Amino acid sequence: MTQTCRQCGICCEKWGWDQKGIIDDLIPWIAGNRQDILTHVLIRFSDGTYRTAADLVQADLSCVDRIYYWVDPDGKKRSSCPFFDRRSDGKVYCRIHDTKPAVCTGFTPWAEVWHDFGLICPACPDITP
Ligand code: SF4
Ligand code: SF4
Repeated sequence: MTQTCRQCGICCEKWGWDQKGIIDDLIPWIAGNRQDILTHVLIRFSDGTYRTAADLVQADLSCVDRIYYWVDPDGKKRSSCPFFDRRSDGKVYCRIHDTKPAVCTGFTPWAEVWHDFGLICPACPDITP
């Protein structure tokens, strides 16, 4: 079944924070000098220390233990995604759409695994309890 996201933004508001990242998310951001994104990423390193990814380099990746989205530049957890943009047309746009993390690109509320969320996603009218 093909579904079309209506860009209502509910899923980004609900789950656009406190998400887990993967190393593959970080690689293009480091290569592209995307400090605007990396500064909002918190890293737990294998020695137990935490810092944002603002100055992360490729060589640090082997020491990354866990990746958290999203934080403020001081490392404090945010309760919203910094890239969430509701515009005058009423739709929500992702300001990093072309390079957003896997947790966002892979989110398909119409899939079985997200069944409970599919019930409130307006793009999922065909899903029944
Ligand atoms: S809740 Fe559904 S329609 Fe709304 S933005 Fe998310 S996927 Fe798109
Ligand atoms: S990065 Fe983009 S897709 Fe992901 S939660 Fe934020 S606004 Fe939504």
